[in-house]
Amino acid sequence: MSEKRSEFGRPVSGKRRLKDLLLQKDNQFCADCNAPDPKWASANIGVFLCLKCCGVHRSLGPHISKVLSVTLDEWSDDDLDAIMEVGGNSSANSIYEAYIPEGYTKPGPDASHEQRTKFIRSKYEHQEFLKSSLRIASGKGSTGSNIAQGIINSFRSTSDSKITEGNIGTLKVKVIKGTDLAIRDMMTSDPYVILKLGQQTVQTTVVKSNLNPVWNEELMLSVPPQFGLLNLNVFDYDLFSADDIMGEADIDLQPLISSAKSFGDASMFDDMQIGKWMKSHNNALMDDSIVNIVGGKIKQEMTIKLQNVESGELYLELEWLPLGN
Ligand SMILES: [Zn+2]
Repeated sequence: MSEKRSEFGRPVSGKRRLKDLLLQKDNQFCADCNAPDPKWASANIGVFLCLKCCGVHRSLGPHISKVLSVTLDEWSDDDLDAIMEVGGNSSANSIYEAYIPEGYTKPGPDASHEQRTKFIRSKYEHQEFLKSSLRIASGKGSTGSNIAQGIINSFRSTSDSKITEGNIGTLKVKVIKGTDLAIRDMMTSDPYVILKLGQQTVQTTVVKSNLNPVWNEELMLSVPPQFGLLNLNVFDYDLFSADDIMGEADIDLQPLISSAKSFGDASMFDDMQIGKWMKSHNNALMDDSIVNIVGGKIKQEMTIKLQNVESGELYLELEWLPLGN
């Protein structure tokens, strides 16, 4: 639709960047109600939305949520930069839904207009589920009445130009243990875990004849600026033939890294919860996985249900080591 402007480069490549962002797994469901194939977005908040939630966002006014169609509207460079900076649904939700109370149910795709409105106002207008440091920052910092701006600024302030060169930090993954893993050799299996991030691959040792192996091994991965999903595979070691797969899972690093970035130097803070990766029907989590500051370190424990296999769970602890540590 913007072919005629292609000689300027930016508008077309901007649209492409937006499409690429929409193709990310977390952006294929509405940030607020989980309806599939969202075609709308809030540029300043940085989320993709279904038509129904978009209507509620629009009713809040553009100073709270600036709604645009992904396909129909022309996006300004500022709007594009804003949504790119946040990085889409899982990143924004790790901030805006960090403190959703235990037992609180988000509206689903079939929620009524009233349920939807109540949730969306609580989430963005009143920022009830936001981590408190950002709520204060965005309140003080808002020169206009754009409450999302303070949050976006808190992302920007920690992502200076130096991180676009080389890696942004190191991910330490402690593979703690597995339970109820699948049987691949007669009665048992000899499992080991492989982690892949981009071109890097690291793996644990093999635990012989054990369906409930304990590894307690720490694996390190460098994280590039454009990191994708962390891919996890469990294999059964086989001396005589190709190793058999015993399940896999994709791990979203966005909640950990986004909340780490927005807090900066974790050693300045007391122990507290700073983010969350929510369990959903399209990820492998057994429970919501909380990002915590613990003793000045940024950590995230998770229990993964292995995918494409008859059984098996894996317990992991992630730790984020920002550049310079
Ligand atoms: Zn929705």
